[in-house]
Amino acid sequence: MARCSECRKTFTPAASARLTQRVCSASCRNVRDRRQARVRRGQDLEGAREDERERQRASRARRRESVGHAGASPPKVPLSHGQIAAIVDRALAPSRASLVLQMGVFVRRSGLDLGNAWRLSRGSLGP
Ligand SMILES: [Zn+2]
Repeated sequence: MARCSECRKTFTPAASARLTQRVCSASCRNVRDRRQARVRRGQDLEGAREDERERQRASRARRRESVGHAGASPPKVPLSHGQIAAIVDRALAPSRASLVLQMGVFVRRSGLDLGNAWRLSRGSLGP
C-alpha cells in the first residue's frame, strides 16, 4: 500500500511501479504533473517565458494556416485616386514654386531682361 501524494488516500501501486508510483489515479497524475511543471517554471522563469512565447508563435502560425476558407483579399488602398493626386500636388507645389523662382534668379543673373511678365507671375505662384 502507498499514500497518494495528491489526495492522500492509500492505494495499491501497479506491480510494474511498486516502488516509484506516487499517485493513485490518472486525475491525481494530472494534478501532480501540473504542480511539478509549475515548480519547474518557477525555477527558470526566463526560460519558461521564452518557451511560452515560442509556443504562442507556433500556435498562431498553425491557426493562420488552418483557416479553411480562401485567404483574405489584399487590403484595399484607403485612399481614392483623387486623394492621392491631391497629396502629390501638395507635396510637389513648394518645389515647383521654388524651381520657378530659382529659374527666374538664374535668368536675371545671366543679365537678360525678364520684363514685367516674370515679376508679375511671381505673385501668382500660390503657397
Ligand atoms: Zn490520489
